Amino acid sequence: MLLPDIVERAKQYWEYTYFWKQPLKPKFKVICHFCGNEMVFHWYRVHKRQYKNPKAHPYRIDIGFKCMNCFHLEVFGVPVDEDYWNFISNEVYKHTGHFDIVVNAVEVIE
Ligand SMILES: [Zn+2]
Repeated sequence: MLLPDIVERAKQYWEYTYFWKQPLKPKFKVICHFCGNEMVFHWYRVHKRQYKNPKAHPYRIDIGFKCMNCFHLEVFGVPVDEDYWNFISNEVYKHTGHFDIVVNAVEVIE
């Protein structure tokens, strides 16, 4: 089976929000596989991964979800397109003064 391009495949599952407080929304329910509760957005971090393979896609957003029932944490490492990566990185810098920072939902839910 030929898999679609990694960024296109990620877009099938993740919506770009263009909103720095939560840049990705899952197009599916994130369910805790321990207790069955629906998990909530918890944090994210924009980062550029360095691979030995030059064809590997470096633009990533790691996004974490938390089960508020049993407290399990789940993390997705989502490849995004370069333009979106730059847009979100700049938004984060504009609002926090940092590029490489974990943006926590608890800080933005105020
Ligand atoms: Zn749970």
